[in-house]
Amino acid sequence: MIHFLSEKLKPDRIYRSIEQIDFRNLKAQGIDLVLLDIDNTLVHHGFHHPDAYARKAVETIQNAGLVPFIVSNAKPSRARSFASGLGIDCIGMANKPSASGLLRACRQAGFQPSAAAMVGDQLFTDILAARRAHILAILVLPLDSREVWNVAFKRWFEAPFLRRYVKDQSLWPQS
Ligand SMILES: [Mg+2]
Repeated sequence: MIHFLSEKLKPDRIYRSIEQIDFRNLKAQGIDLVLLDIDNTLVHHGFHHPDAYARKAVETIQNAGLVPFIVSNAKPSRARSFASGLGIDCIGMANKPSASGLLRACRQAGFQPSAAAMVGDQLFTDILAARRAHILAILVLPLDSREVWNVAFKRWFEAPFLRRYVKDQSLWPQS
């Protein structure tokens, strides 16, 4: 069971933060669409409006020739106001770890799942949904714990898996 889950929850890549993702390289690898989680990925948990950090992440994605698209479990009204602050599309109440919101985003944006990547901070929502949708799964460490990133692993249910993945050097493209 642990082994089975461990495969399902395993990200394809891990980055310390969204700033460290080489989006040009992703584009060169055939990725056109970047699905983005909101909380703890683009902004600190519960922020209602995009800040400079979120704006810069979206700009970097666009400058690399990719399409950013928010897929969030937040209420549609919050997801919408957040996404419209960034001038991009979104799907709220995406029900991650269901794959359905991610697949809907692909259809809406006009790309195959194989041309999409999901960027998020949670194994049990973002990464599991991406794996189910056959979308490239990119884990970032949660913003709220970035200063002391090992504290992020306090989320006990994720902890045994995260510990294993983080030790796996092959998942850290930049190192
Ligand atoms: Mg999140």
